Amino acid sequence: MPELRIVPPAEPDAKQAAIERVKAMKRAPGMLQCSKCGGRDTMTVVTGSYIGQDGKIKRGTVTADKVCYHCDKRGILSFMVQDPPKLVKEPKPRRTKPKAVK
Ligand SMILES: [Zn+2]
Repeated sequence: MPELRIVPPAEPDAKQAAIERVKAMKRAPGMLQCSKCGGRDTMTVVTGSYIGQDGKIKRGTVTADKVCYHCDKRGILSFMVQDPPKLVKEPKPRRTKPKAVK
């Protein structure tokens, strides 16, 4: 088995350095920023919009909200706001059949 050693972190390449520089830029408090690319443009996907009888666009159902626009262009789905963690429940004990009394 090969010996495992701790390797010092590598210097970021030009692309990663640019991303880190963008992420470190000052922003307004609470402003959303993508954790992957540092982008600040959000995107909302609405499914099923249509033009009604009055000629106005009726919005459909929001299927994806606060998605990073720049990551989406590259085919990466990155939500700008993470859902709060869900509580994991203990599975219910399985009900066993009562034993037949002899
Ligand atoms: Zn992004």
